[in-house]
Amino acid sequence: MGIVDDDIRRVREESDIIRLITQHTQLKKVGRSWKGLCPFHNEKTPSFTVNQENGRYYCFGCQATGDSIEFLREIDNLDFVAAVEMLAAQNGIPLRYTDKKESKSRNRRKELIKLVAEAVDFYNKKLIDMDNPEARPAREYLKQRGLGGDIAEKFSIGWAPDSWDSLCGHLSVSNEDLLAAGLGGINKNGGQYDFFRNRILFPIFSEQGDPIAFGGRKLPEGEGPKYKNTSDGAEIYSKSQILYGLNWAKEEAGRIDELVVCEGYTDVIGCHEAGISRAVATCGTALTREHVRKMSRFAKKVVLAFDADNAGQSAAEKVYEWESEFDVLFKVADLPEGGDPGDLAFSNPEELNHIVENAKPHMQFRVDRVLEKGDFESKEGRAKSAIEAMKVVAQHPDELIRDQYIVQIADKCLIGVDEIRRRASEENSKVEKSVITREGVPVKMERLTTEYQALRMLIHKPEEVTDWLHPVLLSDPMAESVFVALTSSTDLHEANQSLGKEESDLFGRLSVQETEDDKPLGVFSRLLS
Ligand SMILES: [Zn+2]
Repeated sequence: MGIVDDDIRRVREESDIIRLITQHTQLKKVGRSWKGLCPFHNEKTPSFTVNQENGRYYCFGCQATGDSIEFLREIDNLDFVAAVEMLAAQNGIPLRYTDKKESKSRNRRKELIKLVAEAVDFYNKKLIDMDNPEARPAREYLKQRGLGGDIAEKFSIGWAPDSWDSLCGHLSVSNEDLLAAGLGGINKNGGQYDFFRNRILFPIFSEQGDPIAFGGRKLPEGEGPKYKNTSDGAEIYSKSQILYGLNWAKEEAGRIDELVVCEGYTDVIGCHEAGISRAVATCGTALTREHVRKMSRFAKKVVLAFDADNAGQSAAEKVYEWESEFDVLFKVADLPEGGDPGDLAFSNPEELNHIVENAKPHMQFRVDRVLEKGDFESKEGRAKSAIEAMKVVAQHPDELIRDQYIVQIADKCLIGVDEIRRRASEENSKVEKSVITREGVPVKMERLTTEYQALRMLIHKPEEVTDWLHPVLLSDPMAESVFVALTSSTDLHEANQSLGKEESDLFGRLSVQETEDDKPLGVFSRLLS
């Protein structure tokens, strides 16, 4: 433990859990507790319950439970210390660290960010320094693509010289730090070398705007793969979660509830220059579930602006799963063949805006693609088109949505809708059902026993029950474990820590329930009888 226990306790007690959670989901006050749609699973009726007084939450749908620190860790993928630090900063609570050495390591992230920032600056100067002839091909290449000096400065684009150690020589840091920041490596003779050489560099920022990594693009005549990114081995970078440009995009995304996902760094920059400030890109990977989870916190509509050849092909079935899991709608921007948003942004920005604004829902886009290619002159051709289109529709997990497409296809192919429905259900039964609807999770709501009621009182109004509540009154082993945990701990968090999974679940539920009707005398006499 790096942070002084007392300070952690203070953070836990002083952070306003309602304010924290309402940044992620709406909560309504019901009686003495707060209820809302769970931010951790997809649902239509609220089963996420928060108790402001004891600072704990519990979801009756997915059993997520914890306090402010645990909430932040879960929702933002933070480690314990980072979550405590963030809450402390939000609430103006100064933190003390247990000893100097550890305090240094707690600031590790900050130190590594500072190193990457120095590298960003170093590479950027190399690029924009007109007296540096070596960077001229890079400058010319960028200019050709519409990325002139202003843009290079605005997006901190850089140039890594064709040298083994120009950055290492400039930074002079320990081997450990160099590796941890993902900026270089150590050769067989123990010497340091730069990770990026002879490449144009696009710095990648965290959503808070801290530089954490680079995407490196080679020049057309350069060697090696087209793109080379900071490796996942770097301590502060994980490509399956990071979206390039989110730091710039989040404001507009929040305002109009939409994000635009491109494939490359230059596409994002182009979109921003064309006035589409809600554009992001994955950093050299396909879209992952983690990306979608992250995006769903900022916007509920996601427009895929991929090269025409890839549009709609990208993990179609996953897209529908994610739509239902994270309650987002994926749309596809119908870009002209062979054109990417980065080029279009400079050649015809109005057209790019028009295409993005007219993006179609993912399924619609794919069905249209199939139908456009069909032959509608003959009965045979129409039947074939209908069947092809139905194969696409069958991939959607939501029957209500499928049915609307069925009606549309029937209409377009001049075939009776019932016949299409019949074929569709055949087709659908062939599609393997990989979609697990989380709503199917049974809500655990057993009848409250008197023993649990007693425990609930011990959680909410301990002063009224500690005198008479004794373990001999409890016959349920689960109740007894929770009782022991509560009476031997200094606070609810500590009690929860000492419990197993099932007991902790019971504890979570009890700690967000109403206690208005709990009368000590009644509960006591029922326990005795
Ligand atoms: Zn839940």
